[in-house]
Amino acid sequence: SSIKRIALVTGGNKGIGLETCRQLATRGLKVVLTARNEARGLEAVEAIRRSSGAAAAAEVFFHQLDVTDPSSAARLADFVRGQFGRLDILINNAGISGVDRDPILFAKVKDQVEGMDVNQRVEWMTENSKETYEEAKQCMRTNYYGAKIVTEALLPLLQLSSSGRIVNVSSGFGLLRNFNSEELRKEFDDIDNLTEKRLEELLDLFLEDFKANLLEAHGWPTGGSSAYKVAKAALNAYTRILAKKYPTLRINCLTPGYVKTDICMHMGVLTLEEGARNPVKVALLPDDGPTGAYFDLNGEAPF
Ligand code: NDP
Repeated sequence: SSIKRIALVTGGNKGIGLETCRQLATRGLKVVLTARNEARGLEAVEAIRRSSGAAAAAEVFFHQLDVTDPSSAARLADFVRGQFGRLDILINNAGISGVDRDPILFAKVKDQVEGMDVNQRVEWMTENSKETYEEAKQCMRTNYYGAKIVTEALLPLLQLSSSGRIVNVSSGFGLLRNFNSEELRKEFDDIDNLTEKRLEELLDLFLEDFKANLLEAHGWPTGGSSAYKVAKAALNAYTRILAKKYPTLRINCLTPGYVKTDICMHMGVLTLEEGARNPVKVALLPDDGPTGAYFDLNGEAPF
């Protein structure tokens, strides 16, 4: 149809989110670029104007959104309703690492990074990232509860679309193989019985175990970024629960690959242009495409 689709991206001011906005606008969609910080968001729209021209930038609409703030999400929903009357594509991209890192240390290693393979990069990252309880809690708040807050605020508008989609930007770190307990793996994978309530009980248990230093004993993901891994596993499970609950929508999750952005201190191997390809591809899957699925860079893949 000649009616332009409307896509909304969280964390659109930089990294994969910004590049996803740019690619969607270039393909002729209308894009709501959101950011928690208004100045950074408006600057991002300017960056699209500079790189892709006025025509692309004219299709990009900025609105403030802090994904952890329900009132911010409600204001955004009001804006989208007033401006477009519906939403076709929601891309939950905003995320944080959940660890403390020393930027000076990472700046020092910058020149050596290109010579490292992916395993060496991840190993170096893990050795130089500190997990704290506060960071772990904030990671859950942003990467899981944030996506849920935004999804719930925008679901009524997605249901007004003739082809509503939700795309959750997850990670290979959220795959179930990262859990060491078979029992936990089963719970996160048991989509016939898993509820949001139980999922959130599991996240509370994780945080309790984090505090009590019981992550390893209880089979939670270890080897660095444990909160990030659990939050992304929860985002994947949430994707599947929602897909079951809203069969007329297409609701999927994905990994963008290991991308050079701030979240991994630019230790990634893919460029931004490459990193936004999977989010864009999954966002634009045909109406009869899969729902409740996970996509890696080769296509649909197991959880
Ligand atoms: P960046 O750090 O470059 O971007 C993260 C974005 O999320 C920023 O725009 C940031 O805004 C935003 N954000 C963080 N917290 C909030 C919040 N409370 N409300 C609104 N926005 C928020 O990282 P990437 O672009 O790499 O990350 C994008 C997604 O891709 C994340 O979900 C990440 O987990 C995922 N991912 C990335 C990988 C990689 O290798 N880069 C690998 C696998 C997954 P601000 O500028 O204000 O902080």
